[in-house]
Amino acid sequence: MKEKNNTTPINKIIPLSMVDGPGNRTAIFLQKCNLVCAYCHNPETQNMCNHCGICVEGCPTAALTISDENKVLWNEDLCISCDRCIKVCPYNASPKIKNMTAEEVFDEVKKNIPFIRGITVSGGECTLYPKFLTELFELAKKERLTCLIDFNGTIDLTLFDELITICDGVMIDVKSWDKELFRELTGGSNINIIKNLKYLAEKDKIEEIRIVCLENEVDAENIIDNLDKTIGEKAYKIKLKLIKFRKFGVRGRLSNYSSPSEEYMEKLKNQAIDKGYKNVIII
Ligand code: SF4
Ligand code: SF4
Repeated sequence: MKEKNNTTPINKIIPLSMVDGPGNRTAIFLQKCNLVCAYCHNPETQNMCNHCGICVEGCPTAALTISDENKVLWNEDLCISCDRCIKVCPYNASPKIKNMTAEEVFDEVKKNIPFIRGITVSGGECTLYPKFLTELFELAKKERLTCLIDFNGTIDLTLFDELITICDGVMIDVKSWDKELFRELTGGSNINIIKNLKYLAEKDKIEEIRIVCLENEVDAENIIDNLDKTIGEKAYKIKLKLIKFRKFGVRGRLSNYSSPSEEYMEKLKNQAIDKGYKNVIII
C-alpha cells in the first residue's frame, strides 16, 4: 500500500468490544510500541514491518506479495486472517497494517455509532501518535462518543495537554514500581510514570489503574503500597484492576509461565482494600 500523508499505522479496528473500557466500544489498535513487555499478549503490534519478506512464502492465499521496490504488500481481499504471517515474523511486526488518516478511521467508527458508547484507542502504544488521537477524538466528540486511551504509562503526557483535555479518561498501566524490575520486564524506563499519574489525577482523567500480576516478576505489592504516595487519597477512588497474567499470545521467556493462583490474587486484593482502595477488581 502506498503511504499517504498524515496517516497513522493501524493494526486493527474491533467494531464492538466489551473489554476495552466501559460499555460497548469500538477499539482501535495502533502499530508500534516503545516497550517490549515480556508478558505482552499482542507482540505483533510492537514494531513496524521491515519488509524482510520472511512471511510472504507461507501465506496460503497469496495475500502477501513483494513489490518491485522490495516492499511487502498485503491484499486484504485475499487475506483469510489465518495469522500465519504474524506467527512467523521474527521482528514482532505485522504485514497487515493500514495507513489511515483520523477521518478514515472515524468513517469506520461511524458505522458502529448506534451500538457504541464510545471509542478506545490502544496499541502498541497509541500515545506515540498524539496528533492522530487529538484529531480522532475531535471527530468522535462531535458525535457525543466518549474517548478513552489505553496507555502503558511511560510517554510524558504532560506534553500533550490538548489531547488529555479532550479525552475522557486514560487507562494507565503500572507495570512495576522498582525501576530495575521495570526495565527487566519491559526494556524501558518508568521515569515518567509518577509524573503521569500526578498529572492525570490532577485533571481527573484516570479511568483506571491496571497491574498485570505475576508473582516474582511484577512487584504488585509495591505498586499497591506506593500509589497513594504519588496521588494521595484520590488513588482510593479510582478503579484498581488487578489483571491475572495469562500466557495466551505471549512470546519469549514468560510464554510457559502459569497464571498466578486465586489465593495470590485475593491476597493482593485484600492488601488494596486494607490500604483504602474502594474499587478493586480482579480479572
Ligand atoms: S493472515 Fe492473511 S496475510 Fe497473513 S498469512 Fe494468513 S492469509 Fe496471508
Ligand atoms: S511482517 Fe515480519 S516477517 Fe513479514 S515482512 Fe514484515 S518484518 Fe518480515
